[in-house]
Amino acid sequence: MKYISTRGKIEPVSFSEAIIMGLARDGGLLLPDRIPDVAQKFDEWRNLSYIDLAYEIMRIFVDIPDEDLRTIVEKSYSTFNYEDVTPVVDMVNVYILELFHGPTLAFKDVALQFLGNLFEYILAQWDGELNILTATSGDTGSAAIHGVRGKERIRIFVMHPKGKTSKTQELQMTSVLDENVFNMAVAGTFDNCQSIMKSIFSDLEFKDRYSLGTANSINWGRVLAQVVYYFYASFQVQERTDAQRVRFAVPTGNFGDIFAGYIASKMGLPVGKLVLATNENNILARFFNNGDYSLSQVVETLSPSMDIQVASNFERYLYYRVNKNSSVLCDLMEQFSKTGSLALHENKDDLFETGSANRQETLDVIRNCMEKNNYLLDPHTAVGYHVAQKHLNADEPMICLATAHPAKFSEAIIEATGNDLAHHPALDALKGLSTRCQDMPDSSAAVKEYIAGRLA
Ligand SMILES: *Cc1c(COP(=O)(O)O)cnc(C)c1O
Repeated sequence: MKYISTRGKIEPVSFSEAIIMGLARDGGLLLPDRIPDVAQKFDEWRNLSYIDLAYEIMRIFVDIPDEDLRTIVEKSYSTFNYEDVTPVVDMVNVYILELFHGPTLAFKDVALQFLGNLFEYILAQWDGELNILTATSGDTGSAAIHGVRGKERIRIFVMHPKGKTSKTQELQMTSVLDENVFNMAVAGTFDNCQSIMKSIFSDLEFKDRYSLGTANSINWGRVLAQVVYYFYASFQVQERTDAQRVRFAVPTGNFGDIFAGYIASKMGLPVGKLVLATNENNILARFFNNGDYSLSQVVETLSPSMDIQVASNFERYLYYRVNKNSSVLCDLMEQFSKTGSLALHENKDDLFETGSANRQETLDVIRNCMEKNNYLLDPHTAVGYHVAQKHLNADEPMICLATAHPAKFSEAIIEATGNDLAHHPALDALKGLSTRCQDMPDSSAAVKEYIAGRLA
């Protein structure tokens, strides 16, 4: 399988090239040249373990020999606390898909443990080096750092918006003192960090000179790893209910996680609805409701990993919406970059339903779910859970993606319940550790200078 760019201005590349390239050289996002329908495999796949299923799904998309892929997959998920990696919990009228049992307690580990091992493997094959530059609103950074810390041939530079992640998230990044890890605290929001990254990646001379790659969800390897749990959860719930179809409620920021669900559906998985849940930063919800995708200010919320306006994976989805017509897509993206808005009014996509939760609703949901079900939702999962309740259907069980362990956001849990209920030994152990981090102005030139200085 070859990989193409949404902008259509590069020659197709292999899977390994796509992983190392990250963002396509023409500024677009990389996608497989086709998405195979695998419905005839489902009976064979239904009862596989998570790792066996991951291997079967990934094989379709990679250029890596089977035995090597299996080793990479096994290594990636051996760091999880659960044998079945992403357990599905029965919760009265919905199912909770717990994606937070990896080393940093957020769903991003599912993809980044895999991506780290994949980078290491490809670089060893190529005898190459990679310097990862990543922007984070909180969870990507620590998950990416834990995916590559201590690995040879790889260094990682992580930009987070200074003071805008939770204290725990910050410590999970800055307390990693491996020599290949560099943290930067940027004066600005996550969108500023993301735009610095885009600007640096568009300087191809710089990108090549310093072998830059990315661990953000613009990397296809992340989307691929996330496709797996849509299949896994769907098979589990179908087994328990005999339902033909399921729905997924997905707390959404950069549109990476829910886009993986979209790919799963394109592969033939019977998904009734993808319920896109946002906090007050609801640009995506507005788009799916009325076709307008227009920027507004980033609002700070209890779910900081979703405090995003420019969703980097959205371009992948748009590409399919304009029937893979790259020139139409380029026009739309250009319009968006000039005016901060674009519109697509033809044929609404019925696969998606949307909704938002504000601060009070998020707190109420956390408290109610604890009182009624004795189950703690983190604030991101709470947003999804709140919106899910408005999109229930008797024939299509709802699976809510639980994207973080509540202990990562203990301040919100205290605010919601009045009690300090959320703990995890891995996080309690962070207190008092020494840290390393560089303050940065909101400037791509300054970030470039820092990177160049570290690599000199
Ligand atoms: C990153 C993140 C999200 C949003 O996922 P996207 O792929 O960016 O849409 C939701 N919840 C948590 C806890 C996250 O870390």
